[in-house]
Amino acid sequence: MSDNLNINKKYKTPEEVLKVLFGYDTFRPGQKDIVDAILDGRDVFAVMPTGAGKSLCYQIPAMMLDGITLVVSPLISLMQDQVNSLNEAGVSAAYINSSLSDRDLFETVKKTGNGEFKILYVAPERLMTEGFIELAKSVNISMITVDEAHCISQWGQDFRPSYMKIVEFVKILGKRPVISAFTATATETVREDIVCTLGLGNPYVLIGGFDRENLYFQVDKPKNKEQYILDYIANHPNESGIIYCATRKNVDSLYEILADKGIAAAKYHAGMNASERKQMQDDFVFDYKSIVVSTNAFGMGIDKSNVRFVIHYNMPQSMENYYQEAGRAGRDGLDSKCILLFSPQDIVINRFLLEHKEVADIDPADLETIKERDNQRLQVMERYCYTTGCLRNYILKYFGENHENPCEDCGNCNREFETLDMTDAAKKIINCVYEAKGRYGRGIIIDTVLGAKTARLKEVGATNYKSYGVLNSIKRSMLMRVIDQLVYEKYLVVGDYQVLKMGDIRRLKDSATSVMVKITDEDKRPEKARKVNKKVAEKSSLTSSGYKLFERLRELRLEIAREENMPPYIVFNDKT
Ligand code: ADP
Ligand code: MG
Repeated sequence: MSDNLNINKKYKTPEEVLKVLFGYDTFRPGQKDIVDAILDGRDVFAVMPTGAGKSLCYQIPAMMLDGITLVVSPLISLMQDQVNSLNEAGVSAAYINSSLSDRDLFETVKKTGNGEFKILYVAPERLMTEGFIELAKSVNISMITVDEAHCISQWGQDFRPSYMKIVEFVKILGKRPVISAFTATATETVREDIVCTLGLGNPYVLIGGFDRENLYFQVDKPKNKEQYILDYIANHPNESGIIYCATRKNVDSLYEILADKGIAAAKYHAGMNASERKQMQDDFVFDYKSIVVSTNAFGMGIDKSNVRFVIHYNMPQSMENYYQEAGRAGRDGLDSKCILLFSPQDIVINRFLLEHKEVADIDPADLETIKERDNQRLQVMERYCYTTGCLRNYILKYFGENHENPCEDCGNCNREFETLDMTDAAKKIINCVYEAKGRYGRGIIIDTVLGAKTARLKEVGATNYKSYGVLNSIKRSMLMRVIDQLVYEKYLVVGDYQVLKMGDIRRLKDSATSVMVKITDEDKRPEKARKVNKKVAEKSSLTSSGYKLFERLRELRLEIAREENMPPYIVFNDKT
């Protein structure tokens, strides 16, 4: 064990703390290594799925180290829950946040100064206040834990500018404590950002498996979502479930519909007052009501293990959100369903919500990046709803886990798809990407081969391409599928900003090689419905400044891409 950390003698081993204080016999995967690393004085960064048991990873070493552990946590309700259960376990823990009365705050500060607590939860906003700095300097802080650490990254799904105060705070402490950071969702970019921003030194990094084998993923596109939900509930009596809606209005109306049918549900959204929300939350958590209809305001920090299904009434804004929300199903390890009900209208709603999202305290320069990021995330989510591939693999791949084989246990794996030979279209698309010199995303490529008459195509000169209009008789969604397949088979590569680039196309030169594409019934339906919605989407986007910013960024990307030299590939002529 390192000499810059003092270990107290109260407990001999982490196993003893686990047993005596928390009543568990064995560590879960990953926990022990993290505890050991911290006790060795090493910084830790751990990405573990919801319910994996991240709290114990820092609470156990906190009990064994001399001094106090500060836990930075984003939500008051999270802090309260954690502190309550620690106190029940006999651990002296407390929190400091805006919910405390002046008197309680005074008491807590006094007791902290007297070294009465082993663990203190703080809101990030508190850290750099004068009073807190003074207090912090007067006590022995052995560790700082950053819970929900993705909040520190501008690339994380709920960036909290106040999380940046952690960095300043650590700097002003006389002695640098061990820093441990935990999150459930983080893509590679976010991971790097967290490690770098927090200044973790040679941290012990644990990226836990994201796969939740007991969750069954499914995407459905019902004509009538309300009826679908009513049927589902009727077929799964007494099962506990969460139904997420994108807006408060949706929550209210779906709640009414369920109530009309005599289904006892709770509802939850930020427009309700605190006592109503608490009541509804308790009704659900304590199983007085088996179903809750809610916005994404519901769920963080709620530890209800027997949720059998999570239905999304609308497509969420990102895969991070989706996996976190869907992941609230089946925390007890029993089979549970995660069903996403998709309609093209969801894309319109989400664009609108993203454009009107309030981002506090943000440098206007960062705003562009954030808009671009939000847009990319939405596209990832949209493709999840359209993919014919394994849904589980799609999710896991997004979080950096590559699985060779389809899971054989999700809505898509269990569905019969028709396959079509799309070799000819595939080659034409590859030609177009070649002509575009790897500068554009799939939108422009598809518009080009479709021969669309947009200002954008004229502007970039794509109307003069040989590929312009060569696939004008094929449906847009089919072309999307072809591109997905080309990317999957690595004939095309997705570069920065989602531009399409040439991959290795040598294999396709062999006339025996074909490109087979799985299609759905929707692919065969006429395109009308989607076109109408697309128009609405574009209109709502164009009116907003967010869209303009996004366009500017696109220009910038173009500039960069122009600099790039294309490798001398031979593309397909009409005879190949
Ligand atoms: P996370 O923060 O990773 O989402 P929590 O720390 O809230 O998860 O833990 C989820 C649940 O798992 C809690 O009820 C916790 O008591 C339980 N738990 C954690 N570690 C263990 C363990 N080693 N054995 C049994 N249960 C555990
Ligand atoms: Mg947690």
